[in-house]
Amino acid sequence: MKIGVIAIQGNVAEHNDALKRTLDERSEPGEIVLIRHSGLVPDCDAIVLPGGESTTLARLIWKEGIATEIRDAAMSGVPVLGTCAGLVLLAKHGDGGVARTKQRLLGIMDIEIKRNAFGRQYDSFEASIDISGIGEAFPAVFIRAPAIVRCGSEVSALARIGDYVVAAQQGGVLALAFHPEMVPDTRVHQYFMGMI
Ligand code: GLN
Repeated sequence: MKIGVIAIQGNVAEHNDALKRTLDERSEPGEIVLIRHSGLVPDCDAIVLPGGESTTLARLIWKEGIATEIRDAAMSGVPVLGTCAGLVLLAKHGDGGVARTKQRLLGIMDIEIKRNAFGRQYDSFEASIDISGIGEAFPAVFIRAPAIVRCGSEVSALARIGDYVVAAQQGGVLALAFHPEMVPDTRVHQYFMGMI
C-alpha cells in the first residue's frame, strides 16, 4: 500500500506521522510518499491533501501538474482524503473568498464550501463530534476552518456543527473541515486506510 501525501505546504509532517502510526496499529506494511512534483501520484493507492493555505496550495498543485493527476486518480477510484484547506481544494463550488482570490479548485466533490466559515472568534477551537461510520466523540481540531454549506445528491454528510457539514464523503473522496492528523486518535486515518 502506497499512500501519497501532497507535500507542497501545510500539515505534511503531521499527516505523515499519523499515517505511520496507523500503519503500525494495523501491522500492515505500507509506504508513504511525499509528493512535490508530478509523476508520483499515478503510482499511489491513496492520496492525502493536507491543510495549509488553500490559495497557495491551489496555485502550486496546478503549476506543478499535480492537480490533473489527483483528478485523474480520484476519477479512477483512488481514495482521496482532504483536510481543511484540502477540503476546499476538493470542492466543485467555492464561495466569494474563492472567487476573489481566483482559486482554481479540483472540483472532484459535489460540495459548496465556505472558507473561514467559523469566523474570527473561533479561528481555532476543538470540538468533540460524532462522525457517522467513523466514531463518536472524535476530538476535532478546527483552525480557520472551512465548512460545507451544500452537499450534492451523491455526497453523504458524516458530521455537522450547527448548520455546517464538517465531514463528508462521496465515493472514495473523504473531506474534513478539521485536522485529524493533529490528535493521537487515529480513527479517521484508520477509516481512510480501510477505503483503500
Ligand atoms: N483557512 C485556510 C484556507 O482556506 C485553511 C486553514 C487550514 O487548512 N488550517 O486556506
